[in-house]
Amino acid sequence: MAEKKQFKAESKRLLDLMINSIYTHKEIFLRELISNASDASDKLYYKALTENIGGISREDLSIQLVIDKDKRILSIIDQGIGMNEEELEEHLGTIANSGSFEFKNALDKGQTDVDIIGQFGVGFYSAFMVASQVEVFSKKYGDEKGYVWQSDTSDGYTIKECAYPSHGTRINLYLKENTDDENYDQYLDEYEIQRLVKKYSDYVHYPIRMDMTTSQKKEDSDEYEQVIENKTLNSMVPLWKRPKKDISEEEYNEFYKDKFNDFSNPLKVIHNSVEGTISYDSLLFIPSTTPMNYYSQDYEKGLQLYSRGVFIMDKASDLVPEHFRFVKGLVDSQDLSLNISREILQHDRQLKVIADKIEKRIQSELEKMLKNDREKYEEFFKNFGLQLKFGIYNSYGMLKEKLQDLLLYYSANQKKMITLKEYLDAMKEDQKEIYFASGETYDKIDSLPTVELVKDKGFDILYLIDNVDEFCMQMLRDYQEKTFKNINQGDLDIDSDEEKKELEKVHEDNKDLLETLKEALKEQVQDVKISSRLKTHPVCLVSGEGVSFEMEKVLNAMPDGQNIKAGRILEINPNHQIFVALQSVFEKDKDKINDYASLLYNQALLIEGFSIDDPVKFSNQVCQLMVDANK
Ligand code: ADP
Repeated sequence: MAEKKQFKAESKRLLDLMINSIYTHKEIFLRELISNASDASDKLYYKALTENIGGISREDLSIQLVIDKDKRILSIIDQGIGMNEEELEEHLGTIANSGSFEFKNALDKGQTDVDIIGQFGVGFYSAFMVASQVEVFSKKYGDEKGYVWQSDTSDGYTIKECAYPSHGTRINLYLKENTDDENYDQYLDEYEIQRLVKKYSDYVHYPIRMDMTTSQKKEDSDEYEQVIENKTLNSMVPLWKRPKKDISEEEYNEFYKDKFNDFSNPLKVIHNSVEGTISYDSLLFIPSTTPMNYYSQDYEKGLQLYSRGVFIMDKASDLVPEHFRFVKGLVDSQDLSLNISREILQHDRQLKVIADKIEKRIQSELEKMLKNDREKYEEFFKNFGLQLKFGIYNSYGMLKEKLQDLLLYYSANQKKMITLKEYLDAMKEDQKEIYFASGETYDKIDSLPTVELVKDKGFDILYLIDNVDEFCMQMLRDYQEKTFKNINQGDLDIDSDEEKKELEKVHEDNKDLLETLKEALKEQVQDVKISSRLKTHPVCLVSGEGVSFEMEKVLNAMPDGQNIKAGRILEINPNHQIFVALQSVFEKDKDKINDYASLLYNQALLIEGFSIDDPVKFSNQVCQLMVDANK
């Protein structure tokens, strides 16, 4: 007796769920196992191609289904790459499959609804939805020894050596007994199995064969007899080779979810057949949700690559540009040499041609979506807009022309996402720049002291809440010759000439006061100024040219943050009561001016979302003011 080994904890959980599943679409187990068999055949075929191993032709590789009604066993047999002892252990004892991972994560998030099972590619373990015992016989290609993995509970499994005639894998499912609500006998029915193969696995490019009993007319007689025929159940025409008009939305959706391990339907399907110096079919998908690991290093971009329907590689990363890395899908070309190795492929000129066309295609599809289906585009942008901004930033603005019209920003006036073009179209005639303001949330930006007056004067402001936003704007520099202007930075030119003159005068009249305030704050500020951008608020802090406050925060949050500081300029509202108070303190009680300066500066810091250096001192000063006011 081989030693019984334990499943890893997370596998056990998934397995328990499978065993006890009351899920209504248990039939998907067959799709999962056939898909594994097909992958294993691909792997062997690819190995034979690249390592020049003779004697393996694609025609020899098939998937057999065998029904044993007496013993209630359904078997799925492939002649693929097979697994050795370690691989059986590793692949079937742990959750390898990314779909299973997402599934487990959904469960961890409390989505215990069993109906979600079918939406995931749950892989091998789905066998336990229909089988009480599972045996996996396997022999790795090129190995002498075969092994059998066996399990009948979620407790554990055994692996032992066994005789197995050829390379490949045979999975025996000992089907569960029928219950009042569940019919497992149907998986012993040839026609039911045929139906399931047609439904889920029709495009698998290896023949899926099964012995089927049919009746045939006897020779020289009117009588019929029963004969057993080994029939091919699937059409083997890949979905992407079929005419677009014959493919239903559901077929695309199912194909996508199955192949790319997503549990939601794609937002957009892009299916093309391109004829030319280099011909290819491409089937691309834009996901409707952001993959969990999308903005991490784990995420691998790339398209599946096929040559004449033969699978070559899973993630040909050169086929999609970095800024469209969210696109999933595949490319099949008859013009690629079959014998290419992965290394050569990276430099293949033909591949470059395809990649360029694919980039243009995605670009134009996104432009079309923006124009014709705004709602869908906004949904897309919510998920992947950040990627477009990174694209502009990472390319140092080289992608500006391509991507700038795909960007959306929140408009303070229109209270919705708008394009830069829409901003320009609604701009006031005399407006010289495109205004923006940054912050953590739209609400927080909206309550910034500086926003009020700009809005009041009828200018629209774009609200930026992503870390990359301002860096991206810096790379863009301008849009249709209008420069981008942070309303919290540098000089803001929104006043009339008259207003400017007036401001100049206030400045002149209060020169000494401002100078004293500046001295009180020492090196904390670059300058103290009379503000032209405040309406009802007493003070604000703006940054000098160059690094802005948001940029300072982002840069300093980075692991190698170098303590970069934006220049701080304290601005005071000359029309606010506080200004009168300052003037009178300045005349009567010069000693107090230091406290006032520090109070105002600290308030301005808080409004900008910074912390203050000495909160205790700040609190004491506020209390002192309250006490003084009641003397
Ligand atoms: P996935 O197929 O998505 O990786 P599964 O749970 O279905 O996840 O399978 C886990 C792993 O087990 C596979 O990645 C593969 O390496 C191996 N495997 C499963 N079935 C077979 C098979 N028929 N032949 C060879 N290897 C297999």
